[in-house]
Order: sequence, then structure tokens, then C-alpha cells
Amino acid sequence: MTDRDETHEIFSLPHLPYELNALSPYLSSEAIDTHYSRHHTRYVETLNRLVENLKNPPSTLETLIRSSYQSDIPLFNNAAQAWNHAFFWESMSPQPTKPDGKLRDAISRNFGSIEALKQQFIAGGTGHFGSGWVWLVSRNGDLSVAATHDAGNPITEDGLTPLLTCDVWEHAYYIDYRHNRADWLLTWWDHLANWHFAEKQYEASLGKARGWVFTDSGNTSRR
Ligand code: MN
Repeated sequence: MTDRDETHEIFSLPHLPYELNALSPYLSSEAIDTHYSRHHTRYVETLNRLVENLKNPPSTLETLIRSSYQSDIPLFNNAAQAWNHAFFWESMSPQPTKPDGKLRDAISRNFGSIEALKQQFIAGGTGHFGSGWVWLVSRNGDLSVAATHDAGNPITEDGLTPLLTCDVWEHAYYIDYRHNRADWLLTWWDHLANWHFAEKQYEASLGKARGWVFTDSGNTSRR
């Protein structure tokens, strides 16, 4: 981390990349506000409390996620949830976007079509038992859909780069979609997925760009 704010928090709450009402009507201001101000904020607060107790605080959240994985469950859960939510906000765009360029070619190669990927992504999210995340990931340019439990995060696996994620914890969709996770995933795919962001991550998975890191959302002033 290069900067610490006045409260000496090691990790600051990332900024939302858009206004609270920017994703309406697909995701309401109330839903984003509750998710961001209560859930995401609480993960970051708990993370900072736990990190204070460490003898050697990590330099980055990515390092901490990898080092705490399967060794310190409360620390991992809060570190990964802080990261996953920041990545989730970036995974959505107020403007419609579509897969393009090399990423579109890779989707055709690995899934047959964008429609086939959509079906697999939505099935991955609806079929996931309990709380978690569904991801589009790349391994050296080869794409797959992965679902993770609770705070699970693909960066704990060597060589995996996440391109997009959708939150399938009930707290992500109950305000706008009640119990209907399938409706949430379908709307998310059709109207919210940020394919420009996914393309940048895809370039990173090919080693041609730097991938998104937690501080990319934490140290900007876009609001
Ligand atoms: Mn969430």
C-alpha cells in the first residue's frame, strides 16, 4: 500500500466506480447502498481490525488473500470479501458493453458462442449451493466459468485471472429480486456485465497488461 488515510486504516473502502443510481433499474440505489455501505464496508472494517493484530502486516491485499488462504479463515474471509466486492463493482457498467476483440474470439473458441457462455455462467450461479460468487476466469487465455463458496477467490489458484464476477450471496439481490437468483443473474448478464473491464483483465491474463488490483479502486476519486 502506498498511502494510508488519517484513521491509519491499512485498507480503505474502495470507491464505487459510479453513482448509487447508475445501474437502475437493473440494480436499485437502495440495493447498491445497502450492499456497499453495510456489507462491503463491514468486511473492510473487520479486515482492518484483524490486520492490526498481525506482526507483519502485508503490503497488498492480494498478498494477504494468498497468505491467509486455508491458514487463517476469518482473515481470509474478510480480506477476500473486501477484494471480491471491489472487483464486483468494477464488473458492472452503467453503459451497455459487449465482448469484443480477442476476448470475443476466446469465448467462441472455449464455449462455442457468447450465448453458450451465458448459459454456463447463469447455470454456474443458480446451481451454486449457498453463498458465493460466479466468475469468468482465464488461464493463459483459456476461459472457464468457476463458482466459489463464501469468500472464495480465483487468485488463490496460481495462473488464474478473474475477468468478471457476479455476487450470488442473497444480500446481493434480495432487495430487487427477492429470492430469485436466476432473474438476478440473467439481468446482470444482459444489462450490467462490464465487458470493457473483462477485456482489460483478459489482456492481463495473457501477460500483456497489468491486472486490476484492490488499490486501483481505493485510491481514485471518481465519485
Ligand atoms: Mn456481497
